[in-house]
Amino acid sequence: MVKPGKFSVIRTVPAMRRWAEKNGGICGFVPTLGALHDGHVSLIKKARSENRVAAVSIFVNPLQFRKKQYLAYPRNLEVDLEIARKAGANVVFAPSAEEMYPAGFETGVTLPQFFQRLKPQGLEWHYKGVLVVVLKLLQLVRPSKVYFGLKDPHQLVLIERMVADLNIPVTVRKCPTVRERDGLARSSRNALLTPDERKAAPVIFRALSHGKREMESGASCAQAMAGMREMISAQPLASVELVEIADALTLAPPGNRTRDVLIFAAVRIGGKRLADNVRFRLK
Ligand code: AMP
Repeated sequence: MVKPGKFSVIRTVPAMRRWAEKNGGICGFVPTLGALHDGHVSLIKKARSENRVAAVSIFVNPLQFRKKQYLAYPRNLEVDLEIARKAGANVVFAPSAEEMYPAGFETGVTLPQFFQRLKPQGLEWHYKGVLVVVLKLLQLVRPSKVYFGLKDPHQLVLIERMVADLNIPVTVRKCPTVRERDGLARSSRNALLTPDERKAAPVIFRALSHGKREMESGASCAQAMAGMREMISAQPLASVELVEIADALTLAPPGNRTRDVLIFAAVRIGGKRLADNVRFRLK
């Protein structure tokens, strides 16, 4: 159990820089969009247990959302601050959009070729936005370790590549997905589900687990994916947006020699997009 320690909230870039000058080198950092839940809490606790101080950012990044989703994203800073503090955070960086992207902000990043060759999901703009904000946050907080969830495998693989390609002096730590008792991955979006949708949502993890079992007993990717699609489609409130099996290390389509497998699903439950994945090693 990590004891909560000294705690402060920083809202501006210059104040964050001042904090980082003293604490960056001994800091574990957890970037978030806020609406903190047990998944975030597990990352914060890990960051605090592995470093002398833990920093959390709470920032709904306009570059990674369409306008409507950006405005609708749940925000409750007071509640989040208390959750972060109790989990062991020493500082929360919660800048405004204007603070992060002042007038005249223009520079972006390009996605690596390997990612563009993956099945296009029409979400390149989103991932570019994620990389820009992560790069800016790493520059401001200057942590020695940064913590991300395996729940978002695409952003994780991109961030790992960016850190390597741009020689960013930080260690990326990957953390397991925290789930509800019925298997549903914790997500800020779960709060948007109606009671009936919430009851339907665990079908995603059930289907992923089914796909995993199928592959472990020798089924092909096509067979495993067909079984998963069938399971999800049998749930009236769910519709499959994407089921994908990939090499867990590169996210490329799996080859004959792939052993580390990732099964990813994006499913609409009553219109709300929920994503989840499982990863495992084939014998
Ligand atoms: P978000 O606020 O959704 O951007 O998430 C912030 C960080 O928490 C990301 O690294 C996510 O991968 C991670 N995360 C989100 N949900 C979970 C979860 N259920 N378990 C573990 N980590 C999570």
